[in-house]
Amino acid sequence: MTSAADDAALEAALAVIRTTLRSGRRAALPAGLEDNAELDELLNDLAGLYRYTLAVSRGDLEQPLALRGSLAGALKNLDAALRHLTWQTQRVAAGDFTQRVDFMGDFSEAFNSMVLRLDDARTELEAQAVILEELATTDALTGALNRRKFNELTQAELERARRYGHPLALFILDIDHFKRVNDTYGHEAGDQVLVTLADILRAGIRATDSLARWGGEEFVVLSPGATVEGAAELAERLRAAAAAHDHVSVGKVTASFGVTQHCVGETPDELFARADEALYRAKDGGRDRVEVAG
Ligand code: GH3
Ligand code: MG
Ligand code: MG
Repeated sequence: MTSAADDAALEAALAVIRTTLRSGRRAALPAGLEDNAELDELLNDLAGLYRYTLAVSRGDLEQPLALRGSLAGALKNLDAALRHLTWQTQRVAAGDFTQRVDFMGDFSEAFNSMVLRLDDARTELEAQAVILEELATTDALTGALNRRKFNELTQAELERARRYGHPLALFILDIDHFKRVNDTYGHEAGDQVLVTLADILRAGIRATDSLARWGGEEFVVLSPGATVEGAAELAERLRAAAAAHDHVSVGKVTASFGVTQHCVGETPDELFARADEALYRAKDGGRDRVEVAG
């Protein structure tokens, strides 16, 4: 049996709980229950729960939640899921496209398909970058480096040679009487000679050397670490290999070489000019030979 006073107290307690639950604001303890610690704590919990859910609904996960139990556990799960989602998004932003979300069906589907598309787009871009790099740096016919890339390499190697005091050699070679090859056997046969000669040169140089097509029927080789004597030996081997090759339908084709070594403080243009001067001496001297710059 409850007394009328108890009924009134219960009514008052329910009223203040309802008000707190609906408004989210902590209501004052009603008359007669001012010292009820349990009711006071319950109202505090309700107000705390409201502050927490209001903060989360606004995207603020920093609001603390002192409450314990299943309800608080469910809210903390939501908090953890949102934090994990944030972390996953940060990973995607940093380029990690292996992230997959499993939270809220439609959202997950959209997020995951977005990440897959980003991944595809990146793969595509990387493949295109490789092709573009190839196009921008190599000669399409022979696969040798182009002049622009070779200049860039020479600049960098000159800098390294200067810094470490290493020697650096360079030689230019020019096919002899190539105009006759074209005139006699046709331009396509001439192209094939260029392709084959590039293969012979590539097979003969060291892994650290670079081969470029300098112009129509001219190639250059940059030899980091090589002295002029070493480069002249290499040029001689290449000259002999080129001269020995029997080109399909064209037969033998020779080339002339001009070799030089980098001098301290000179520019790439000065280096090329000296190699060119040696090449012209090789031409004047009767072709199919290696000349070293003085
Ligand atoms: P030299 O021994 O004095 O070097 O004589 P050369 O005939 O080789 O020199 P010249 O400069 O008179 O002629 C070079 C020829 O190279 C002319 C040009 O048509 C040819 N040539 C340049 N580029 C290409 C190319 O990509 N393909 C073919 N087939 N021929 C080319
Ligand atoms: Mg030429
Ligand atoms: Mg020539």
